[in-house]
Amino acid sequence: MSLPQFYDPGALIGVLTTQPLGRVLDYRAPEGGCHLGAFVEVPLGPRKVVGVVWGPGQGDYDRSKIRAVLRVLDVAPMRAEMRSFLERAADYTLTPLPAMLRLATRAPGLGDPPSMRKIYRRGSSEPDKMTAARRKVLDALHDYGDLSFTLKELAEMAGVGTSVVKGLVAQGAVAEETSPRDLPFPRLDPARDGKALTADQAAGACDLADAVRSERYGTTLLRGVTGSGKTEVYLEAVAAALSAGRQALVLLPEIALTAEFLTRVQARFGAKPAEWHSGATMTERRRIWRMVGQGDAQLVIGARSALFLPYQNLGLIVVDEEHDTSYKQEEGVLYNARDMAVLRASICGAQVVLASATPSLESWVNATAGKYRRLELTSRYGPAVMPEMRAIDMRAENLPSNRWISGVLQREVQARLERGEQSLLFINRRGYAPITLCRACGHQIGCDHCDARMVEHRFLKRLVCHQCGETKPMPQVCPSCNVEGKLAAVGPGVERLGEEATELFPDARIATLSSDMYGSARALKAEIEGIAEGTADVIIGTQLVAKGHNFPKLTLVGVIDADLGLQGSDLRAAERTFQLMRQVAGRAGRAEKPGTALMQTYQPEHPVIRAILAGDEDKFWAAEAGEREAAGVPPYGRMAGIILSGPDVARVFDAGNLLARQDGPLRAIGAQVFGPAPAPIARVRGRHRVRLLVKAEKTAPLQAALAKWVAQVPLRGDLRLAVDIDPQSFY
Ligand SMILES: [Zn+2]
Ligand SMILES: [Zn+2]
Repeated sequence: MSLPQFYDPGALIGVLTTQPLGRVLDYRAPEGGCHLGAFVEVPLGPRKVVGVVWGPGQGDYDRSKIRAVLRVLDVAPMRAEMRSFLERAADYTLTPLPAMLRLATRAPGLGDPPSMRKIYRRGSSEPDKMTAARRKVLDALHDYGDLSFTLKELAEMAGVGTSVVKGLVAQGAVAEETSPRDLPFPRLDPARDGKALTADQAAGACDLADAVRSERYGTTLLRGVTGSGKTEVYLEAVAAALSAGRQALVLLPEIALTAEFLTRVQARFGAKPAEWHSGATMTERRRIWRMVGQGDAQLVIGARSALFLPYQNLGLIVVDEEHDTSYKQEEGVLYNARDMAVLRASICGAQVVLASATPSLESWVNATAGKYRRLELTSRYGPAVMPEMRAIDMRAENLPSNRWISGVLQREVQARLERGEQSLLFINRRGYAPITLCRACGHQIGCDHCDARMVEHRFLKRLVCHQCGETKPMPQVCPSCNVEGKLAAVGPGVERLGEEATELFPDARIATLSSDMYGSARALKAEIEGIAEGTADVIIGTQLVAKGHNFPKLTLVGVIDADLGLQGSDLRAAERTFQLMRQVAGRAGRAEKPGTALMQTYQPEHPVIRAILAGDEDKFWAAEAGEREAAGVPPYGRMAGIILSGPDVARVFDAGNLLARQDGPLRAIGAQVFGPAPAPIARVRGRHRVRLLVKAEKTAPLQAALAKWVAQVPLRGDLRLAVDIDPQSFY
């Protein structure tokens, strides 16, 4: 590997900082010089800030005023491919480069010297007096050969108090040493035996491993129904990357629930990988950032922001559940991690594996067009097959207005209870009821800061705004008419469904699974593990249960409201409903028992519902693709959403109208602008929101035109403008 370009002391260099300045600043290289890409500390006004040496300086202003870099930080310089990735991602998402750099430096204390901690190992002497407790400590150290431990680890391992260890230190029987706190991650062993693979899994694994060994860019759509062994297959691609001395990244949605996944990785490679997610402590983040940068973390399992870690030699990115909407970051820098993974891999010659049972339409189209390779896994483990799927026509059920479980579904659950099998009742709505209505005056309780209803969470005994997170206690009197005792819950949420199930099946063990009902991810995980082992007969769950958990005793899935996702104007509504319903149905019948999935619907003849029931995915995608192509929308055309927001509704609309009028830069590339219109949620956190939508041909140079166009609006005061390229949601 050749060293990056070097700047001699005093040379004029450009430094990119994370400060929102809109440009690279000129400095002089410090004493001792610095490399291109070096992380440096520079003076900025009265402050010191961290930046990266981005190239030669511009020299476009008074050279005598240019200040020198204060110091070069003790971390590996940013590699050329990473700088290129940040620049191209910034161009694509129309994000200022400093904001991209912030994503790439999300580790605290980058500039600090490595911090130290005390570790303990076997010393050279024997204790003067041997006690049972001391014996335990020395035995523990003996059992682990020459390894060293922290004080707490050693005391716990030996089952003694820390004072026993300290006593041994005083006598030289245990040695106390200092070592850097940020330790390399344990080496993973790709040569260990993996799980036995079926013939088509083995063929797929072999194919992916060959692609990784080519050390060239390529993307593969790995498609397989739930339980077809996608994870085992792509772990072999990870093994190929590690064997070749390259790093691998596995992106997962819902990172808090990955314990099951980590166990599988550990079983395959003999040690734990690095785990990067929003719940990681500052210390963990710093360790991972540094170790990834110096090649001492071979495999990272992470949420979308793990894409911005400073990999030294990245050979493979797996995007698991690639269709998942959580890959799109909807705040701050608006990017889709799936698309950015492909960009990043194409720059560094890595392979991408997009894994899903129900791929996004974008990926399906790319695979069909031959842009991505396609790998299909057909067989499920063992004799189980995809469940039998049927609709329950709710128009014929005549349920009372406060009941949601139909007679048909009730009898099916009852039959499972009698056979000792599990049932899952699925509703994609958190809380107790979506609407709280005053029966005296008709008022619906809304959020004070958003145009959204407050959702009753009976478990928390509060009303919660799902837009901004604001909560308030459940009122006793109507806030509008002050009448007492007339507030009523309208519609079902997961908690209310749990209540109904308890009434219908009084002898069953019922577990309600919703993320906000557990104090911690760990408590939720423990509950899920218990359920998988059979501690519940009926599971009531939200989207949470659709994702990757194994419930071997589950043979029935009942979808309470299959129509829910079909409402609204979102162009992806059909796609999402199809994916979610297929995923939920895939929970049923994973072991030896065949499963059944029943969908309660008021529109059984709806094309999406019929496609779900028919199980003909390719037919569904082809029809959906045809409709999008005819409408010229993604993935056949380009789209960008513009959200203007501010506290003063008139000023926000003025800015929107100004943009709509001055559409010259867009017309120049044949793009159209729609709006301004109030956003579907017209007020969030007290800010009024106005949307414009831009549509262009697939090949139009959209970003450059957008940049020119939005630059015409002066963003004074509290007015904000966000550009969302390839919008996923339209709220
Ligand atoms: Zn009222
Ligand atoms: Zn709110």
